[in-house]
Amino acid sequence: MNQELLLEFAHFKDSVDPLGAFRDEFVIEDPDLIYLDGNSLGRLPKRSIKRMRDLVEVQWGGRLVRGWGEDWIDLPNRIGAKIAKLIGASSDEVLVCDSTSVNFFKLAMAALEFQKGRSEIVTDSANFPSDVYLLQGCAKQTGHTLHVCEPEQIGEKLGPNTALLTLSHVSFKSGHLHSMRDLTAKAQACGARVLWDLSHSVGALPIELNACHADLAVGCTYKYLNGGPGAPAFLYVRRDLQEKLLNPIWGWFGQTNPFGFSLDYQPAAGIQRFMVGTPPVLSLAAVECGVDLMLEAGIEQLRAKSVEQTEFLIELWRQLLQPLGFSLNSPASSSDRGSHISLGHPNAFQIDQCLIEEMKVIPDFRHPDNIRLGVTPISTTFFVLAEAMLRIKKTVDSGAYKKYPTVAKGVT
Ligand SMILES: *Cc1c(COP(=O)(O)O)cnc(C)c1O
Repeated sequence: MNQELLLEFAHFKDSVDPLGAFRDEFVIEDPDLIYLDGNSLGRLPKRSIKRMRDLVEVQWGGRLVRGWGEDWIDLPNRIGAKIAKLIGASSDEVLVCDSTSVNFFKLAMAALEFQKGRSEIVTDSANFPSDVYLLQGCAKQTGHTLHVCEPEQIGEKLGPNTALLTLSHVSFKSGHLHSMRDLTAKAQACGARVLWDLSHSVGALPIELNACHADLAVGCTYKYLNGGPGAPAFLYVRRDLQEKLLNPIWGWFGQTNPFGFSLDYQPAAGIQRFMVGTPPVLSLAAVECGVDLMLEAGIEQLRAKSVEQTEFLIELWRQLLQPLGFSLNSPASSSDRGSHISLGHPNAFQIDQCLIEEMKVIPDFRHPDNIRLGVTPISTTFFVLAEAMLRIKKTVDSGAYKKYPTVAKGVT
């Protein structure tokens, strides 16, 4: 397809997109800047600006400490209940608190303590490094042995000694989507517990925690959920496990009566025991705006558009970029894939820098040679995807990337 026809086709797809109107819910300062990193930091919803302003000026400024009783104290549970709808959980099984890393530690340690007598932890090499570091730290503290296996070997690694299996539902690098249903069943058949990290799947595809009988999960809110930089994360504990597990961090918000000021820790009933300290109200409010948008758009519709858009990218890769030496480092079938596409190229790091500096395209670079293109279906248009692929082609055709350094530094 020539360039003109391609862009015309993309425009047509956008004109019949049932989610098209949602793009206007977001701040898009420069329409010519192509943003394909919404799976690292989601865009700013316009309604979050209004909400933050009200929160700071009216609630904090005017209501002061009275704000806690009026709205603030319920935010972790209220937003948790909304996220529950996106991940197939019940409203009393999800809390928004702390960071993904801290929640991961809390639930991993709780599961290991509960699974006493079993000595092994299993994860795969596609997992996010922070999760693997946390597991290394857990293993050091508890004496468990950590196995980091290849994704294809997970089944063989599970056995009567497995205490915990933990995986990223969608891999941050390749976008590979694990089968939550199959792996949960396999692990539970061995008597193991499973902790899922949903950071790269929540808000991008429907998740069925309850239907898969998942034990535990954590996830991030500043990626597809558009909660803002460093926004508090969420955790899920299946209801029947809540009373059996103990939070390893005993803070007053996880105590049965925080404002009783007793000097003895009594874990709160239910999901509440997985809280630690005072909720970050400003950040929580922004998370609620992002989650509301997801619920309004509908997770099934978001997934349908995401699948169409990642397929569109793969088709354009085949036509435009494969001949230039790019490889597809993501699963070819959408049923095995989340909402991003990784393209490999020997000069990926230089190309990435050139795209950002000169071509007004912001993808993400992932070591060692991946250019990651994140599709956030709530705000990404087909036109933007077509234009991005044309600009990547131009970057390579012109050789403009060659002047950029080959070694990474800082946040990417
Ligand atoms: C983004 C991400 C995190 C982020 O953890 P933080 O504690 O917010 O830094 C954790 N795990 C996975 C799989 C992620 O993709």
